[in-house]
Amino acid sequence: MSAVTFDSVGEWNAQVPLLIVGAGAAGICAALAAKESRVNAVVIERDSVPSGSTGLSAGLIPAADTRFQRAKGIADSPERFAADIQGKANGEAPPAIVEAVACGSAPLIEWLSDRHALPFELVENFNYPGHSALRMHGLPSRTGRELIDRLRNAAELSEIVLLTGSAADRLIAEGDGLVRGVEIVRSDGTRERIGCEALILACNGYGGSPELVRRFIPEMADALYFGHSGNRGDAVLWGQALGAELACLGAYQGHGSVATPHNTLITWAVIMEGGIQINAQGQRFCDETHGYSEQAAQVLRQPGRIAWDVFDARIASVARQFEDFQNAERAGAIVMAESVDELAANMRVPAEAFAAEWRNIEALKKRGEVDRYGRRFSVEQHLMPPFCAVKVTGALFHTQGGLVIDATGRVKRKGGNLFRNLFAAGGAAVGIPTE
Ligand SMILES: Cc1cc2nc3c(=O)[nH]c(=O)nc-3n(C[C@H](O)[C@H](O)[C@H](O)COP(=O)(O)OP(=O)(O)OC[C@H]3O[C@@H](n4cnc5c(N)ncnc54)[C@H](O)[C@@H]3O)c2cc1C
Repeated sequence: MSAVTFDSVGEWNAQVPLLIVGAGAAGICAALAAKESRVNAVVIERDSVPSGSTGLSAGLIPAADTRFQRAKGIADSPERFAADIQGKANGEAPPAIVEAVACGSAPLIEWLSDRHALPFELVENFNYPGHSALRMHGLPSRTGRELIDRLRNAAELSEIVLLTGSAADRLIAEGDGLVRGVEIVRSDGTRERIGCEALILACNGYGGSPELVRRFIPEMADALYFGHSGNRGDAVLWGQALGAELACLGAYQGHGSVATPHNTLITWAVIMEGGIQINAQGQRFCDETHGYSEQAAQVLRQPGRIAWDVFDARIASVARQFEDFQNAERAGAIVMAESVDELAANMRVPAEAFAAEWRNIEALKKRGEVDRYGRRFSVEQHLMPPFCAVKVTGALFHTQGGLVIDATGRVKRKGGNLFRNLFAAGGAAVGIPTE
């Protein structure tokens, strides 16, 4: 198990100013930013080709008041973004971190676009739960694969050293917590000690450690893990050994819409555009628009741990901008029907129960009332034949607990003081807590 060696003496195979563990979006962006400040970073990555959860994601980044928004006439501001985050977090998110994220988001997107040629565009045809303005930015394919490949390319053009096929195994630190370096294991089993003046942990959370997920997030212990298997909780384990403050270890981002058995992400746009979820008994079970993360556990509580996303051809055309959705279609995951009864038959759910739900929604729309769960259906988002459905399950995307940092990314010790040269970024740091 990864741990910390409190031993500053010994041989070093190399000395570098900045060492970064993990070549996902957080690690590569940190290395690019350091390079611009004339600090040469070495990035250690376990995989031979960087992917991380970044490469598995949809690669969409929220950012407020970008020039991409302004070009489309979207009014937004960091203050509004911060208010949306606090709205979702019940006002409990640390204001300094929220401000850093909200204010840093637009410069990040524009910097990646201008300096590193990542062709971001605004996602215009659907909004995300909790966002009061259209502010998701994505690359043309809307895939994290494109994001990580373009970031890796930018790192190569910037002559950043990516030590791939190399796992950070142990941190080496002074007794007072000053980090001296990292012991790495190469893919051929050889060990090397790399000394550094500063260390950034960008090795994400612990979704890839079934043991840590069972310990901290028992409700998702048996759920499909949809993130990167190499994220095994090293930052948490090293932090514990160093006496770092850790928070929100039970928090996670899930997703209630992963096509099963195909294991392909079905974008939440199918719900936000007017779709619903029903269980194997043909019944709805909550307000689906509350959030796709919350919906993971809701779906897993249903019979057979599955639900059906129900939508129509108009919504499918919105969802088709995502390669994952196209892949689901190609794999035959989407069933279609010309009538509600035929759809029930194709889904093999009780036709009467499903039809009753359908009639109920139609009546609610006419009366302009909210449903029994608090959802208000929009008349404009009326579902029309041909109808579509896909069987989905709930999955764990990434863990959100982690190292507590200040607004510059420096890791806090228990008691509040900061480590002198230890930083955390991305999923290694605690996420902004939401309910
Ligand atoms: C299916 C899916 C969809 C998502 N969609 C979105 C989205 O659209 N927008 C969004 O903002 N977020 C999304 N997320 C979340 C997002 O992917 C993560 O929050 C983000 O990628 C984290 O980036 P990171 O750089 O911290 O970690 P990662 O990208 O996971 O990178 C961590 C890297 O560290 C390496 N590593 C780990 N331990 C070691 C070690 N000991 N030594 C060496 N290397 C190590 C790993 O191999 C990995 O390459 C999604 C997640 C999933 C799973």
